[in-house]
Amino acid sequence: MSVAATPTRRGPNPCPNLNHRRSGAPVAHCPDCGGAVNQALHRMACPEMQHDEARRARSTFCVHCGLRLIGGYR
Ligand SMILES: [Zn+2]
Ligand SMILES: [Zn+2]
Repeated sequence: MSVAATPTRRGPNPCPNLNHRRSGAPVAHCPDCGGAVNQALHRMACPEMQHDEARRARSTFCVHCGLRLIGGYR
């Protein structure tokens, strides 16, 4: 029953995005899984323009509000 030493709790989603592992991440949500990484930066909503930009950067989730931007290709 040995558990690998992980300093942070990561829940059931083993997302490889580095933002989950750093404290004081520059974004509120992970662009890969949408998980919250820095609640202090969370936004309720974003201008649609910002989501268009994020889509162009190929983010699956908005890093500000956590909304799914790209989907349905699983
Ligand atoms: Zn993630
Ligand atoms: Zn957003």
